[in-house]
Amino acid sequence: MARLEPQGDPVPLDPKAASRLIPLMGGGSMLPAAPGLCVTCATKHDAIHPHNATSLFYQFRFANQHGRAPTWADAIAHLSEAMRVVARDHIESVTEFTMPAAGVAPIAEPFAISEGL
Ligand SMILES: [Zn+2]
Repeated sequence: MARLEPQGDPVPLDPKAASRLIPLMGGGSMLPAAPGLCVTCATKHDAIHPHNATSLFYQFRFANQHGRAPTWADAIAHLSEAMRVVARDHIESVTEFTMPAAGVAPIAEPFAISEGL
């Protein structure tokens, strides 16, 4: 069976696009969230709403960066105290509200709109 081999030289990314790649521990990088989505969870939401803890992008990137799986407590940690209460009540009405292990503080990650690659 024929093997597929790369053809030609790789096309270099322009430096601005390359700076948006997300470095991975152990080498390599991952693409940023698509344009218009939250840079942290790759989901379309507003700054006053939680990150999407069910997003595979969020789970993979968070675990690679922080060395543990994200929880719902992490996903709401960037919100104001009042919005954390509202968000937690809503999350608990539809699923289990997950927390980091005892003694481990939730990690607040920023909300921003991705420009893509
Ligand atoms: Zn988000």
